[in-house]
Amino acid sequence: MSILSKAVRIERHGGPEVLQMVEVEVPAPSDNEITIRQRALGLNFIDIYFRTGLYQAPLPHGLGFEGAGDVVAVGRGVKRFKVGDRVAYGQSPIGAYAQVRNMPQAQVVKLPKGISYEEAAAMMLKGLTVQYLFRQTYRLQGGETILFHAAAGGVGLIACQWAKALGVKLIGTASTPEKMALAKKHGAWQMIDYTKEDVVERVKTLTKGKKVPVVYDGVGKDTWEMSLDCIEPRGLMVSFGNASGAIDGVNIGILSAKGSLFVTRPTLATHVNTAEKMQAAADELFEMVLAKKVKIFIENRYSLDQVAEAQNALQARKTTGASVFVLD
Ligand code: NDP
Repeated sequence: MSILSKAVRIERHGGPEVLQMVEVEVPAPSDNEITIRQRALGLNFIDIYFRTGLYQAPLPHGLGFEGAGDVVAVGRGVKRFKVGDRVAYGQSPIGAYAQVRNMPQAQVVKLPKGISYEEAAAMMLKGLTVQYLFRQTYRLQGGETILFHAAAGGVGLIACQWAKALGVKLIGTASTPEKMALAKKHGAWQMIDYTKEDVVERVKTLTKGKKVPVVYDGVGKDTWEMSLDCIEPRGLMVSFGNASGAIDGVNIGILSAKGSLFVTRPTLATHVNTAEKMQAAADELFEMVLAKKVKIFIENRYSLDQVAEAQNALQARKTTGASVFVLD
């Protein structure tokens, strides 16, 4: 049986004016799908990339990759879930901004009792990202000093806490004194205002000239070269986002000139592309949250009708931590 649902859709790329609220008919789940009545959804920078056209999917399409809710129907081949289960996901087919949706079961996990729908919607995509950045891309052992840009953001505040729990000194960057104070409160060892200070010099001073073995950079264009200058010889540049715009026109020779550096451009999708990998990464994230080593900071709660307002705030650097859409 199909279910009617409100959903956000775009028919062309552009500013917030292209966001439309439509009513869709969600069909009965196919064999390996479950139908979720969503209770909370996550807002992420990637939603803006798809709206503007920096990242592309065939139009028209929905938006969003992160959500949590209750299972209301299961396909014939589904064994892991039953109607009534509380579930969450952070890496879905595009289209999380909806009241009801179908999801492939392999991309969904059961939500532990101690974690609310809102927390789940605020942490699945962002927390799983920190999991792979810190435990897979460059496996931190404890004792390292690292640089992490936009440390007061959604991914950033989780990273600050996770680094502290691992015994890692996280040097963060942010654009205002308030954001710097918030990141420090969440466990950043030191903060640098990259709109005013010389980041490379500060990193050199803080590391007694050594620089850092790894930089995690979700800002992109504006910080690319500065990030490379903060990395010790043979260290790793993890370029995982483009909040300031995409990096282009790179001459690969820059990596030799700056000290035989490595660079990677990872994405969450590769790291959770089977049910087993998704579950293992989610288990590690849930453990951090249930043990209160990572607390999920939700600054803004919106209704789905406020989607334009919510995306504007994120894009204009007005937010800290996570923003979620709360559904009835
Ligand atoms: P954030 O909450 O971190 O928001 C982005 C932050 O980037 C802003 O708050 C701002 O912080 C900083 N920023 C710097 N320059 C700009 C600019 N010109 N315009 C806008 N923001 C700017 O977002 P998310 O937590 O959702 O995502 C953080 C980054 O991580 C994004 O680039 C995102 O695409 C990436 N990401 C990548 C994933 C992957 O697997 N590759 C998965 C998840 C996220 P400040 O004001 O302090 O500078």
